[in-house]
Amino acid sequence: MKNINKVLEQERDQLKLVHAYQDACSNKEFKEFIETLPIEEEILIKYTSSLEDACEEYKNCKKCKGLACCKNKVVGYRYTPEKEKNIIKFSYNACKWNRLSMKENAYKENLELFDMPIEIKEASLKEVYTDDKSRVPIIHYFKEFIEQYNKKENPKGLYLTGSFGSGKTYLIAALLNEMARKKVECALVYYPEFLRSLKASFQTDYTEKFDFIKKSPILLLDDIGAENESNWSRDEVLGPILQYRMQNHLPTFFTSNLTLEELEAALATTSSGVDKVKARRIIERIKQLTIPMELIGKNRRN
Ligand code: ADP
Ligand code: MG
Repeated sequence: MKNINKVLEQERDQLKLVHAYQDACSNKEFKEFIETLPIEEEILIKYTSSLEDACEEYKNCKKCKGLACCKNKVVGYRYTPEKEKNIIKFSYNACKWNRLSMKENAYKENLELFDMPIEIKEASLKEVYTDDKSRVPIIHYFKEFIEQYNKKENPKGLYLTGSFGSGKTYLIAALLNEMARKKVECALVYYPEFLRSLKASFQTDYTEKFDFIKKSPILLLDDIGAENESNWSRDEVLGPILQYRMQNHLPTFFTSNLTLEELEAALATTSSGVDKVKARRIIERIKQLTIPMELIGKNRRN
């Protein structure tokens, strides 16, 4: 008797499932969604409620124009049914916009920032203003740099000088972002702050940090000359970094508000006194590593 009851109960449950499924199928969109699935009806029947949830997200995705207007529970993902043997598993799968965005952003892995604003990874050569003439030779140089680098010719970097806010950092970052898209690892270093954090890491990861910068395939030392000069920063940090990069032909970029002559004067005078010879030696290394250029332009900061 007990067994018959159990069988009857099972049949009733099965009937309930079928009814719920048939009810759901009276909805045109649900029916359409179901038809996209390579899953047999006798399996689908058991999952009506979850399939309805998945259908909602399927509908959202059909109308969607990009991640910014995603209506799904987890932005950029779609709740999706997948058959595994005789059951259905539901998982959150990245949508096409999300996959596109991941692909589009993959180059950022090749950019290591040291105290630079994160937005600098968005700088793009396509966005570079072409409204003033002083950019023309720089853009021309960029094209040559990319060509030569592709041919493994170890091109020289730039020493880019110009007034505050003229767009020096943005320009070099745009080139380095382009190189990162070509899978070249680049380090972008806000130099004054890097010195401070390097100094603070004597007991910890000093050598690691120092070597990373020194050996980075492409390096930007941003805002050089804005730091407080000391014998240590000139002779133990900048000197050896430049020496190593010269010997290994590693492209190195600088931006500065100072011209090379002004930088030389700044480097000569440290808190410990004046040493023109050591300053001269640094400048010689920078000259070996770079082509000097000037960016004249209005202040773009607001
Ligand atoms: P600098 O390094 O010469 O002081 P920045 O590169 O920091 O100048 O540029 C100043 C401001 O202008 C920044 O906010 C930067 O993001 C913006 N900027 C500069 N060039 C561009 C550009 N081509 N497109 C968009 N924004 C730019
Ligand atoms: Mg700058």
